[in-house]
Amino acid sequence: MSSYLLQGNTGTWEIVVGLEVHAQVISEAKLFSGASATYGGAPNAHVSFVDAGFPGMLPVINRECVAQAVRTGLGLRAQINLVSRFDRKNYFYADLPNGYQISQFTHPVVGTGVVEIELQDGTIKQIGITRLHLEQDAGKSMHDQHASKSVIDLNRAGVGLMEIVSEPDIRSPEEAGAYLRKIRQIVRYLGTCDGNMEEGSMRADVNVSVRKAGEEFRTRCEIKNVNSVRFVMHAVEAEAQRQIAVWESGGVVEQETRLYDPAKGETRSMRSKEDAHDYRYFPEPDLLPLVLEQDWVDSLAAGLPELPDDKRRRFCEQYGITFYDAGVLTADQITADFYETVAKGRDAKLAANWISGDFFAALNRTGKTIETSPVSALALGQLLDLISDQTINGRIAKDVFEEMVETGAMPSAIVEAKGLRQVTDTGAIDAAVTAVLAANQDKVAEYKSGKDKLFGFFVGQVMKAMAGKGNPALVNEAVKKQLG
Ligand code: ADP
Ligand code: MG
Repeated sequence: MSSYLLQGNTGTWEIVVGLEVHAQVISEAKLFSGASATYGGAPNAHVSFVDAGFPGMLPVINRECVAQAVRTGLGLRAQINLVSRFDRKNYFYADLPNGYQISQFTHPVVGTGVVEIELQDGTIKQIGITRLHLEQDAGKSMHDQHASKSVIDLNRAGVGLMEIVSEPDIRSPEEAGAYLRKIRQIVRYLGTCDGNMEEGSMRADVNVSVRKAGEEFRTRCEIKNVNSVRFVMHAVEAEAQRQIAVWESGGVVEQETRLYDPAKGETRSMRSKEDAHDYRYFPEPDLLPLVLEQDWVDSLAAGLPELPDDKRRRFCEQYGITFYDAGVLTADQITADFYETVAKGRDAKLAANWISGDFFAALNRTGKTIETSPVSALALGQLLDLISDQTINGRIAKDVFEEMVETGAMPSAIVEAKGLRQVTDTGAIDAAVTAVLAANQDKVAEYKSGKDKLFGFFVGQVMKAMAGKGNPALVNEAVKKQLG
């Protein structure tokens, strides 16, 4: 792991970043063939003649991949282009059997949009989306399988990719991280990409330049294929520091493609930047222009799930919870659904506190997720009911919850089996108070001579004597009464 630390100090230099995010489309089949788009599988098990670039094989556009791109565009509040076009991007690479990639160059399916990010201090900032286009993924070359040969797995070749290009609106490593997390959250909500960066189904090319305040943009470098949010942040930092050093020593930053090395925490040159004409882009002759009907786009829009920003605002209004809590509870769809199930018809703030507090802590501690959690939304809801109908007090509820985590039992069963019902019988409470005061005559005298703080001590002793089951309000009252 990298020991590289974010330094954040760029002096009078401003960092400028634009990200190109490659997001693998969730679909059954590939973008232009019927082969399975599933991740994994035996090498070369999901390869059709189209994907392998056999002569005479023709691409056929997969409607679902287009729908996914449109949904994503709508989620990015972007312009949907009813007419777009595919182009050939020509280059040689061993994992690209055709010798070209079908992409969209001049006429992408999605145009300009906007994404809101939230910074640590709570500031909301808008980052412009330049475009989203569809293209094919390449296969995978592996150089570590054989002593003298490289091997190629074409399972990924031809899988649909959405390339989401941002405007150079990002100004710091923190903003780059927040942007990437936001894109990932949106595509996951939409179900258009699983966002798993470790598996490579989402990766980012990071364009970085630096400038002095008020200047035009300077030359950028592009850092290819960065595969985690943390690495993107580190790459921005490292590359900005490198460029600043170049400019400050009187040098000139050359436009080039670089690689980020997480182990060293630095970027290094890969090749000087190719220009578009090097790829000899031209309209893909095997595909017609892509023409969408507005009705179809409208029906996709109508079928979109509620997006994270909207859900967060609704949670604040509907449940009266803070913007911060709403952010935590809408981080992903599953958490949001869990919260709504628990909060429904109950004290919504209490539900938010339990979930973002004890519940998440328990998941962390046990290495579980909501899906594998021993505590279901139904069970947690029942626990809140037991608190609000005064069957148990808040203190006992914590113990019951721990038991639920350990055994997966329902709270009512635990309360009955262990006799944890709250004691509201004032006779029993009074008797416990009398006994505690009798056993602590000295403290009672101190209290009466002005040591008010001892009140809490008496309450604590009574609760302890009642095995934690006393109703706190009634215990308070009884202690107050008997102390006169
Ligand atoms: P290309 O097609 O050659 O990759 P683009 O103009 O499409 O170039 O830009 C790619 C990315 O680079 C975009 O995300 C854009 O925001 C970003 N970018 C452009 N100019 C700069 C700059 N001076 N500094 C940082 N990023 C930049
Ligand atoms: Mg680029």
